[in-house]
Amino acid sequence: MNTIKHWINGTHVPAGDRTAPVTNPATGKVTGQVVLASVAESNAAVAAAKAAFPAWRDTSLARRTQILFAFRELLNTRKDELAAIITSEHGKVLDDALGEVTRGQEVVEFACGIPHLIKGSFTANASTNVDVHSVRQALGPVAIISPFNFPAMVPMWFFPLAIAAGNTVVIKPSEKDPTAANWMAELWKEAGLPDGIFNVLHGDKVAVDALLTHPDIKAVSFVGSTPIAKYVYETANANGKRVQALGGAKNHMIVLPDADLDLAADAAINAGFGSAGERCMAISALLAVGDIADELVRKIAGRATSIRTGDGLRGCDMGPLVTAQHRDKVAGYIDAGEAAGATLVVDGRTIAADAEGEGFFVGPTLFDNVTTDMSIYTDEIFGPVLSVVRVDSYDQALETINSNPYGNGTAIFTNDGGAARRFENEVEVGMVGINVPVPVPMAYYSFGGWKNSLFGDTHAHGTEGVGFFTRGKAVTSRWLDPSHGGINLGFPQNA
Ligand code: NAD
Repeated sequence: MNTIKHWINGTHVPAGDRTAPVTNPATGKVTGQVVLASVAESNAAVAAAKAAFPAWRDTSLARRTQILFAFRELLNTRKDELAAIITSEHGKVLDDALGEVTRGQEVVEFACGIPHLIKGSFTANASTNVDVHSVRQALGPVAIISPFNFPAMVPMWFFPLAIAAGNTVVIKPSEKDPTAANWMAELWKEAGLPDGIFNVLHGDKVAVDALLTHPDIKAVSFVGSTPIAKYVYETANANGKRVQALGGAKNHMIVLPDADLDLAADAAINAGFGSAGERCMAISALLAVGDIADELVRKIAGRATSIRTGDGLRGCDMGPLVTAQHRDKVAGYIDAGEAAGATLVVDGRTIAADAEGEGFFVGPTLFDNVTTDMSIYTDEIFGPVLSVVRVDSYDQALETINSNPYGNGTAIFTNDGGAARRFENEVEVGMVGINVPVPVPMAYYSFGGWKNSLFGDTHAHGTEGVGFFTRGKAVTSRWLDPSHGGINLGFPQNA
């Protein structure tokens, strides 16, 4: 049996006997056992990151950038390998896995510009013979705790900039699909990154708590469900750390009566069922405005029934859910929606999937006439379940979105520029698409939601990411000569 071990100080390390099974969700077969860290193992990973920090912080920007470019080149050449690993442990189809790696690679490319991103400013003669300049410096060892749904991209939202800025990293991937992180660790080594700068610690709450409370961890980037994000934010904060904790989502798509309904139906399908709905930017609630609902539901239903669900290695459109437990949870929500009186237009519970064995499949599922008190609307299902909520007006649609506790992503479909512009201004959500259903920002913008979708002040990557992984220092200097003598106890003033 394949054992997935920690990667500490540039090598796989032996671990204690706590493990968790890793499964291929398309077949239901257990493919490995991932080790689950003890507190001592967690401390060893932090110690390696701490020991590597001083030399890495003082490594020239030129050298750091060379290593980043080498990592980018290796990743670009070998990303098919990483995509296959993601498909085998997460289940998403191969194309989608490759898309995830490519979006992560964009952040590596952004981080290659670190010399420019980290530049300070300089003011000569701010006061007579006094100069002022600013620098941004690394924090030290930082922790990155990531979810199962993007085992490569989400860690890459953070570690390229953290490392480029001179920090060292302990990453704690999801125990459900842990191999991608080890693969990236080996790639860093091949790219010339010195040992101890990128460490992978596998585990569960024990490892997370050890990182959140460890005095040598200076910052925490977390992505996962909202209750855990809130817990991580509060615990890391109480332990004096800088923290950004990205949480769950319930993303709405408004379709106005003037929209092209075929394009809107395509978008709803892609955003609702891509990655089997296991995306924090998935559309799970569609607000159909006015009398278009019947026609729109018909168009979406026709497309949903044509989707091929099956093993991600067989060229299917949609793969399985990540675990049997998650499959049962999603199926339970479909039961609950039916019992609550929503109209089940397409039922994914009885799908005949194109796969061998006992995979964890739920097919595309479409509900109509959903109301905002039903659990299929209030909860983040994180599966291929799309709910159509019928509303009378734009104002009612906006009010529905703004009164939702989540605020990650949203989209509006319309040909009316004025309505779209108004929506952009009025909606209380961090990432907005205008005729774009999954508006994931480019690496040079920042990714993050509002309200219960993000705890902390700083979004991921972009210039906010650079700010998160560095701290500023302002230096005031004067080179003394005899004219600068004399005693003056007053507060320094400029002249
Ligand atoms: P999760 O919250 O179960 O796990 C996330 C991480 O926390 C994992 O590394 C896990 O090991 C750890 N963890 C789990 N339980 C813990 C506990 N009790 N104490 C401490 N640590 C714990 O999330 P998941 O199921 O892996 O991922 C799906 C969730 O992530 C969804 O809610 C999704 O919306 C969210 N997500 C959000 C974003 C975003 O950008 N906002 C992006 C991706 C995923």
